[in-house]
Amino acid sequence: MNFDLSEQQRAFQHAARQFAADKMAPHAAQWDAECTFPIEVIQQAGEWGFCGLYTPEAAGGIGLSRLDASIVFEELSYACPSTAAYISIHNMACWMVATWATPTVVDQWSALLASGRKLASYCLTEPNAGSDAASLKTRANLINGQYCLNGAKAFISGAGSTDLLVVMARTGSEGASGISAFAVPADTQGITYGRCEQKMGWNSQPTRTISFDNVMIPASHLLGVEGEGFKIAMRGIDGGRINIASCSLGAAQAALDAARLYMGERQQFKRKLADFQALQFKLADMVTELVAARQIVRLAATKLDQRAPDASTYCAMAKRFATDVSFSVCNDALQLHGGYGYIREYPLERYLRDVRVHQILEGTNEIMRVIISRHLLNGVAPEEIR
Ligand SMILES: Cc1cc2nc3c(=O)[nH]c(=O)nc-3n(C[C@H](O)[C@H](O)[C@H](O)COP(=O)(O)OP(=O)(O)OC[C@H]3O[C@@H](n4cnc5c(N)ncnc54)[C@H](O)[C@@H]3O)c2cc1C
Repeated sequence: MNFDLSEQQRAFQHAARQFAADKMAPHAAQWDAECTFPIEVIQQAGEWGFCGLYTPEAAGGIGLSRLDASIVFEELSYACPSTAAYISIHNMACWMVATWATPTVVDQWSALLASGRKLASYCLTEPNAGSDAASLKTRANLINGQYCLNGAKAFISGAGSTDLLVVMARTGSEGASGISAFAVPADTQGITYGRCEQKMGWNSQPTRTISFDNVMIPASHLLGVEGEGFKIAMRGIDGGRINIASCSLGAAQAALDAARLYMGERQQFKRKLADFQALQFKLADMVTELVAARQIVRLAATKLDQRAPDASTYCAMAKRFATDVSFSVCNDALQLHGGYGYIREYPLERYLRDVRVHQILEGTNEIMRVIISRHLLNGVAPEEIR
């Protein structure tokens, strides 16, 4: 067992760190304050390969492993968790299209998506189908060789600014097996977008509802086969959970580094904060938990790379643990800054606001516990989880 990054992984880490420091960090606070979706910077990230990280090379991506991709997302998030998180969702949608779309759709879209010239959204959640996503009601009926889409999606990241929507819709009866997935050009007639949601964080990316009113799409835009859509959505989101967990790690590392520096500078009672043992212990706990969280994320990513049968459970464990730990590290780092942590001159409050939603989306952390406990209680042998 070797926990060191390979030379190639170090090179990707270095490249992502440089991109994040040059192109994202200087603007992140402004994007947050002004709710700017930095499409040009995302497109530049695409030029560096960051929009199709684990999309196969044959479809225009750079074909990295999930572990490699995790390392890159962590670095991007160090500068701007919100923008990095959108890039991670785009990567997920890009991979889904490259993996399940028909050759015509792959030819038309994959290279554009992987290079960041076109952007994608992942559309599963509906106003009345969140955690219980398999109860979704958006309907796709096949009429004369075209699917007709009707329904509504909620909380869609990037919506209104993206070019392709990966939409899960019902083609069959109730339940997960009645759901299919589609690649839907975002400007198709009959699609309308709601107002940009006003959010606690993730302000550098829009979140909107989407309505489908008799939206006609060619049958060739079906991903996989009819009835496979929920499985495709879950396969996408397994990786998505690692990605979002990695974005949490990056933000927490940035918050921890800021706290460490601040403790060396700030003086109270004629001593540096770093001289108070209570605060030293706090910092020690923060870094210990962050290292543990990083390791579980990399373990889950490795399981996904190896297509291990328990990969989904590990993705759920990693997402639950890393997003909870990272939120807590950001919160502790804010506390270590005292009142300065609470004002916008320092980035701590932004990190905290941005990572909060990671405990909610891509399956809430309660749903992660449902997945983990189901695995544990449904007959898994004890040695399989050691
Ligand atoms: C900023 C933002 C961006 C998002 N981006 C996207 C996107 O791009 N694409 C997309 O498809 N979705 C997206 N989502 C939606 C997100 O995935 C959902 O919000 C999430 O899955 C939870 O669904 P819900 O909000 O309907 O909460 P609900 O499902 O109504 O849950 C409410 C509460 O009940 C708990 N709960 C529900 N069921 C159970 C249970 N069985 N056991 C225990 N607890 C339970 C939940 O954990 C939660 O705490 C986004 C959400 C946000 C806020």
